[in-house]
Parts: sequence; C-alpha cells; structure tokens
Amino acid sequence: MNKSNAKHTHCTFCGRTADMVKRLISGNDEVCICTDCVLLCKSIMEQEEIRAKEPADSQPRQVPAPSAIKKTLDEYVIGQDFAKRVLAVAVHNHYQRLLQQNFSDVEIEKSNVLVLGPSGCGKTLMARVLAKVLDVPFAIADATTLTEAGYVGEDVENILLRLIQSADGDIARAEKGIIFIDEIDKIGKKTQNVSITRDVSGEGVQQALLKMLEGTTCNVPPQGGRKHPEQKYLQVNTQNILFIGGGSFQGLDEIISRRVGHKSIGFHREKGKSEDQELGDLLMQVDTDDLLEFGIIPELIGRLPVIAPIRPLDENALVNVLTEPKNALVRQYKKFFEMEGAKLEFTPPALRIIAKRAIKKGTGARALRGIMENYLTDLMFDLPDLPHHETFTVDEEFIKQRDHKVRDAALANFPPARQAS
Ligand code: ADP
Repeated sequence: MNKSNAKHTHCTFCGRTADMVKRLISGNDEVCICTDCVLLCKSIMEQEEIRAKEPADSQPRQVPAPSAIKKTLDEYVIGQDFAKRVLAVAVHNHYQRLLQQNFSDVEIEKSNVLVLGPSGCGKTLMARVLAKVLDVPFAIADATTLTEAGYVGEDVENILLRLIQSADGDIARAEKGIIFIDEIDKIGKKTQNVSITRDVSGEGVQQALLKMLEGTTCNVPPQGGRKHPEQKYLQVNTQNILFIGGGSFQGLDEIISRRVGHKSIGFHREKGKSEDQELGDLLMQVDTDDLLEFGIIPELIGRLPVIAPIRPLDENALVNVLTEPKNALVRQYKKFFEMEGAKLEFTPPALRIIAKRAIKKGTGARALRGIMENYLTDLMFDLPDLPHHETFTVDEEFIKQRDHKVRDAALANFPPARQAS
C-alpha cells in the first residue's frame, strides 16, 4: 500500500499509522497489518512449531547444579564468591521448583534475590550471566525511572514488556525469565533517613511492584506506554519470574557496623585492612534488621528473602577484570588490533596503573572501559593506515606519554591565569 494515500489507515494489530511503520499491507474490510506485526506473528508461529516438534519428555529440562552455575559465573565475574554461591543455589532452587510444580505435594514459595553492594562490582553482570546459563529471557529495569514517570502503574508493566521482547514475543517463555531491578534500595524507603533527591515514593507504583515480585497476573500494554481502557492487553503471570533486586545501599555498612559493635568506619579500622576490605567484611554480615533500619519497607524485604552481598573490587581484582573474563577488555582490544593485522600487548605495571585510576573514580569496574578508550583511541584511529604486523605495547612509558598529551591539550584550553597555578 502506498504510504501517501494511506495516511489515516492504521495497523489493525498494533494501531500504528502508516507513517509510523515501514509498510502497511491491507486485507478485506479495511483491515491492515504492518511489517513489524507480520514479523512478530511469524516468530510466534515458528516458536510454536518448534515447541510442537519437541518430544514431550524434553519439556522439563534439567536445571544445572549450583556448582555448574557458579562455574559459568566464574568465567565472567571476578571475585564475589559468596554472592555467586548464594545466587547459584537460589537460581537452581527457583528453576527446580518450576519443574516440580505439577508433581510436588509441597508448595515451594518463590525466593527472589537481593544483591547489594557497591556499584560497578558485578550485580547486573551476575544477573545477566545467570540468564545466559539458564537460557531464559532477561530484562533490566531501573527502579528510580519507574516511579519518576509519574503515571501510576504505567511503567511497572513495561518491565514485563521488555521481558516479552527479550523472549521474542513468547509469553510462556517470558513467564520463566529473570528481571533485574536496579536501584531497588530507592523504592519504598521510609522518608526519615532518605538522602536522595528524587521522589520515589509513588504509593501505586510500590504496590504494583510488590505484587509483581510476589506473583500476580499483570496486564501489559503491547506497545508499552500508558494504559487506556479500550486497549487489548498481554496477560503475564509473574509467579515464576525470578526477580533479582540490586542496589548499592549506601550507608548500610555503618548500620551493620553499629550492630556488630565495630567502631565508626574509617577512624578505628582494623589494622592492615583497607577501607574497601572493611566495607566488604561488614556487608557480608548484613541481615534483615539492618535493611529495616536502613529504611527499606518490610513488605519489600519479605519479597526478596535471599540476600547476596558483594564486595568492592580492589586493585588485584580490577587487573583480573581487565584480563581474565571471557569477554575481558584486554582480550577485546587485542582482537580489534588483530582484525587490523596488528598486535597489542599490555605490561603488568600498565594494567596496575589502569586499575588504580579506576579505583580513584569510585565506580568499580565500570570506569575501566573509559580509561582504556582514552589511552587507545588515537592509536586505533591511525591503526588501519599503519604498516601491518606491528606490535604495540601499552607500558608505563606509553601511559605517561598519553597522560602528558592529554594534560597539554587540557592546559591549552585553560585561560592563562589558571595555567600559572
Ligand atoms: P553493578 O554492580 O553496578 O550492577 P555491573 O555489574 O553493571 O555493576 O558492572 C559494570 C561493568 O563492569 C560490567 O558490565 C563488567 O564489564 C564490569 N564488571 C563489574 N564487576 C565485575 C566483576 N566482578 N567481574 C568482571 N567484570 C565486572
């Protein structure tokens, strides 16, 4: 159908008008379908065919043992041994429960997980890897944006829409997926000791989210956005979705420290322990009373019964993050160079400098990528024009030169008065 004379025609399935879609195909009685909906229908039918072909006994698949889950986590996530073990057991039990649901006389309750600890240290990464190991759909939501949208109940269901999309439209598959809700510490926090600036107390959003964590049937608008009465909804049951809440819980260490009888952190630190080590040790001792005192509402604590604390990453851990995981940054950059017919090497002292810089930024391993980019962008810009088979080594000298160049460029932009200081 020609777009220009179909301005007012819309897709009967998703409701979008001709100018919002690539193409509209019309049928009888002004019924139309857009190319996106055709593709979605195709993928649903293909999946149904695949499922119909599966032998019946292959339906309840085996759930990997906790040790196997942890082993895969080890391939991608450095450190965080305790959290990995807790998560491996929780996830194994969750999916075991799904398999046994129809055969067991004991009703096993679902156990969502709360992963807490400093940012950039692997909370989201672990959730992502778990979804990969189990081959289930995965979606990430940010708790603070949910409430900020302002339309009560609107965005909460959109988390489920993202999960359905990640399951290629297969709702049954989405209903067994994993949802990671970041910044969960900002939801339902009692106001007396809140130090955040955004309003995250939307009562309706809180209730919708609590119900979702517990297990309920949600009406999800198929195009996302705001709900309206005439709309047809996708019905999604969240009973078997595993929710992993993540948050940095800043200040929680002081509450734990008071409870376990430590002196104030930072001033009376145990000899030989760094601030980060002490923070990690304290977080390992967290219990639900600490979360209550932190200000998390009891309803939320009850719906996230398994707690997996993580530690800050120290210099050694960050060097390992750079080099060891399957998709480690060093491996990735080496691959880029290899694709251009060159070789890239890093000396151990250079990696230590990069790790130290990341620690200074205070955002865990998240800072590593930016630092690496800073050092390597110029080189990568010139790389395709340089002679092939060259080996480039990132060592202390290379880093020093780059730092000088960056500093000189920065000074050139400063007004003279500042240059003198
Ligand atoms: P957060 O704890 O805030 O959820 P993320 O898990 O999103 O942090 O970490 C950000 C990025 O930093 C990850 O994508 C990963 O590349 C890297 N990273 C963080 N922690 C680790 C870790 N323990 N092992 C390996 N990489 C990590």
